[in-house]
Amino acid sequence: MRKIAQLDALDDPEDWRPPLLPLVRFCGAPGCRRRARPGGRHCSGCHAAAVRRHREYHRRELAVRRQDAAAGRDDDGRARDSARAKLAMALRRGTLARGCCRECGAGEVVGLIADPARWREVVWVCRGHRQTELDRRQDDAARREYDAKQVAWYDERDRALSAIELLPPAEKARLHELAARGPAGWQLSAGSPLYAMNLVRIYRSRVASSETV
Ligand SMILES: [Zn+2]
Ligand SMILES: [Zn+2]
Repeated sequence: MRKIAQLDALDDPEDWRPPLLPLVRFCGAPGCRRRARPGGRHCSGCHAAAVRRHREYHRRELAVRRQDAAAGRDDDGRARDSARAKLAMALRRGTLARGCCRECGAGEVVGLIADPARWREVVWVCRGHRQTELDRRQDDAARREYDAKQVAWYDERDRALSAIELLPPAEKARLHELAARGPAGWQLSAGSPLYAMNLVRIYRSRVASSETV
């Protein structure tokens, strides 16, 4: 029978360090001695085979889920799906080549499609710069929206001003008198933006009230 060492005969547990783990991990699939993927349990070959098996085994549920997802999409979502599929097909056929990250030149990239109708104009970015690109697009969209609002306002202002010009002189003078009233009793000058906004607002409410009569 083996003798068990006394507790006080052991080394001080404080001095104990875990043995260094081997730096190479091997695939967990039975019989496979290839290296595991970084962060994964299996080698890339066994992982791909497992994914294939999973898809094959669950193909009915997956097809139903895909159909449900497709049915739940709006036209915009469908156009985006189709653009992504066309891009994937072009990459497989080799009619389109993957580029480098346009921010840092990295080779491992994802493709971003801005306009589904022009899916060939794909922007390649690495995972790290994907968010940068998405943020930039959001800024662009916000700027375009702002510009569109500005243009719409100038249109409306011009229409209102020309309509005011056609009013009888007394009415016109009354509108201008009201428009000159700024906040806290301030008198606004006729050229100021607030004056124009006041004038259009007053004219609009006057049109609205005459329409409801
Ligand atoms: Zn393996
Ligand atoms: Zn990058």
